[in-house]
Amino acid sequence: MRFASLGSGSEGNALLISATSGITETQVMLDCGFGLREAESRLSHLHVDPKQLSGIIVTHEHQDHVGGVFRLARRHKIPVWITQGTLEAVRDEAAGVTVHICRDGESFVIGDLEIQPYTVPHDAREPVQYTATDGISKLGVLTDVGHSTPHLVDALRGCDALVLEFNHDTDMLAQSVYPPWLKARIGGQMGHLSNQQSAEILQSLDRNRLKRLIAGHLSQKNNSPDKVRSAIHGVLGDGDVEVVIADQASGFGWMA
Ligand SMILES: [Zn+2]
Ligand SMILES: [Zn+2]
Repeated sequence: MRFASLGSGSEGNALLISATSGITETQVMLDCGFGLREAESRLSHLHVDPKQLSGIIVTHEHQDHVGGVFRLARRHKIPVWITQGTLEAVRDEAAGVTVHICRDGESFVIGDLEIQPYTVPHDAREPVQYTATDGISKLGVLTDVGHSTPHLVDALRGCDALVLEFNHDTDMLAQSVYPPWLKARIGGQMGHLSNQQSAEILQSLDRNRLKRLIAGHLSQKNNSPDKVRSAIHGVLGDGDVEVVIADQASGFGWMA
């Protein structure tokens, strides 16, 4: 199993997950917050032809996640998996695209991948995040979440690799030029995770199998990679988990 990112942050998100069994290869995209040309160009940097994609799975209707999903899906005839609530929010864009409804607690199969959606607290209609497994390894993804829940901690148990939001540093957000309503939204219970909240989630997870941690969805104004690394180091110490910071401009390249 391999995964890569086209970009991570409030300007646009998209992740690729790939599994191989014998001669077949399954490639799934998780969210696409980039316009059609931008997405195609970022895919080509990762040596992926959009026609190879077996599906696009969607977390929620915020533009940095869904903005490019349906144009890419329509152009390349890619089916989309989405919750009913999210679909209601973007129904006008979905015309002409094959849509499968998914929901918390019901896993589904795309080729060689089994995908599990799980509900998270975020200010959207029916937001979910996902784990994916090829039967050997498990990848967990958690971004766009306002606070930890027992449900998400349970969903992420036993991941070999984890993409985890480290959105903002609380002090930097408080001192930023953002208007008060936006600070309240980002820092609120249905907003985004602070470095400290993410570190606490990391601390509470079953990390027995964890080999790679990717910090994602960093705020470009209210966070810094150094602060994120230090929050992660506070939990993982100098252990053998490889830590990567995902970049808004370039995401990260393929990793196993
Ligand atoms: Zn987002
Ligand atoms: Zn969001």
